[in-house]
Amino acid sequence: MGAETVDLPLPVLGSLSPSRAGDFMTCPLLFRYRTIDRLPQAPSSAATRGTVVHSVLERLFDLPAAERTLEAAAGLLRPEWDRLVAAEPEVAGLFEDAESLATWLDSARELLAGYFTLEDPTRLEPAERERLVEVVLPGGLRLRGIVDRLDVAPTGEVRICDYKTGASPREMFEGKALFQMKFYALVHWRTTGVVPRLLQLMYLGDREVLRYSPDEADLVATERKLLALWTAIERAIQLRDFPPRPSRLCDWCDHQALCPSFGGTPPPFPERVPGPDEPLPHQRAAVEALPAR
Ligand code: SF4
Repeated sequence: MGAETVDLPLPVLGSLSPSRAGDFMTCPLLFRYRTIDRLPQAPSSAATRGTVVHSVLERLFDLPAAERTLEAAAGLLRPEWDRLVAAEPEVAGLFEDAESLATWLDSARELLAGYFTLEDPTRLEPAERERLVEVVLPGGLRLRGIVDRLDVAPTGEVRICDYKTGASPREMFEGKALFQMKFYALVHWRTTGVVPRLLQLMYLGDREVLRYSPDEADLVATERKLLALWTAIERAIQLRDFPPRPSRLCDWCDHQALCPSFGGTPPPFPERVPGPDEPLPHQRAAVEALPAR
């Protein structure tokens, strides 16, 4: 791909989430395909299980504290799956028959069992669940993301929690995992003036918890990193230059057929980059199909 500047109006994207930032750091071409071209991605059973388990853990806290048991959580799996199918009918195609769906639901139940070994939800009253957080930094970059859970102690100390349905990272990759949490901590600090006391990643797959206490210096460094990343993204958009960066993550990439590292050719760069709040047609349909809770 050439790196020649093209004389086209610079498309405005204007917003970064932890996953978008992570995409660009992993592979600029992957970022382009997901964020600018917005190529569809086939649903996977692992990602879909993550979605359903997250929904269950959110809904669990609707129940009175004493009723938040593993059995109650497991009982929410099927309704949350049905709800997801109503919103995104293509996920139903992940399973050939009722038996494979039942096996998959059992694996989701195992993850919930993992959650209950990590904490006792009867002793918690989260301040927020699945909360959209955002802030506009000086210079105009909007940071936004969805926090799984935010707890506030009676003393006012804040804990940001995130559920992961995979296994915990090896020590050398912990920094990458914490980047997302520092992103949320930065948004919280910039919107409230309070540095969260604790960032907590709960890995339901291997029942491990990763905790980190950030300080202001951490968050200033995270902000600097995000601004530098944004400058790099703007530059890439200006040059229409998003090189592939092959890694072992390519095994999970939906776009190998369009990737030069796999003999593919990228499609022409879009004339117009969609805005951050602009849903895709299939996303709009999904939102409209959501049954009322
Ligand atoms: S296959 Fe690998 S290098 Fe190519 S776009 Fe996907 S992640 Fe990037």
